[in-house]
Amino acid sequence: MTEPTTPQLQPMPDDWRRALAVVAHPDDLEYGCSAAIAAWTDAGREVAYVLATRGEAGIDTLDPVRCGPLREREQRASAAVVGVSEVEFLDHRDGVVEYGTALRRDIAAAIRRHRPELVITLNHRDTWGGVAWNTPDHVAVGRATLDAAGDAGNRWIFPELAERGLKPWNGVRWVAVAGCSAPTHAVDATPGMERAVRSLLEHRAYIEALTDEDPETYVRNFLTGYAGSTGERFGGRPAVAFELFTR
Ligand SMILES: [Zn+2]
Repeated sequence: MTEPTTPQLQPMPDDWRRALAVVAHPDDLEYGCSAAIAAWTDAGREVAYVLATRGEAGIDTLDPVRCGPLREREQRASAAVVGVSEVEFLDHRDGVVEYGTALRRDIAAAIRRHRPELVITLNHRDTWGGVAWNTPDHVAVGRATLDAAGDAGNRWIFPELAERGLKPWNGVRWVAVAGCSAPTHAVDATPGMERAVRSLLEHRAYIEALTDEDPETYVRNFLTGYAGSTGERFGGRPAVAFELFTR
């Protein structure tokens, strides 16, 4: 009798030039995704980040008024490590991001500005798998991003965007969702792993408030462990996984 084989993840499409990552908070991309982003920018692809909030409610011991600018600085530094220079903030309020037309419109506007073929976001489902409950901001931003990929291409859905000079962009071919419990595709994490570690380490104030562990040990263990477990479904190579929605 043969052992049951683990379903394997497919390689991510690579026939694209521009990607836009849309997430709720500073650090959402760095917790598992940025090794893929480093590999893409190495290959000459353009990647930009859009964050719905500044993550100002993310550090218990720090007032949001001081926390927001600090986390914005940390996010810009962490993006630079993986070759991303464009980082935008939509100024929704951390912790209480509402799914709805205002959020869809803001993300559709960002998609029209950047005109990506690939859009990346974070888990839009209620859980991380099993009983690990997701946060409402991730669910709202993930769902709104999946919707906005279509909204961006329809001139009649948010006509006020065209009046601001943002022409419809119907060129999004895929939305890749990171952190899903049922991924379909993956990217080899090995070439980008060192930069992924340094990228997450740029969120130093956040990490130092989160754990007493040495920050580099914590970050390295988290990212290599996560990529290694994904690699079991990617020919044994450490990997960053995505659930890929095709348009
Ligand atoms: Zn988050």
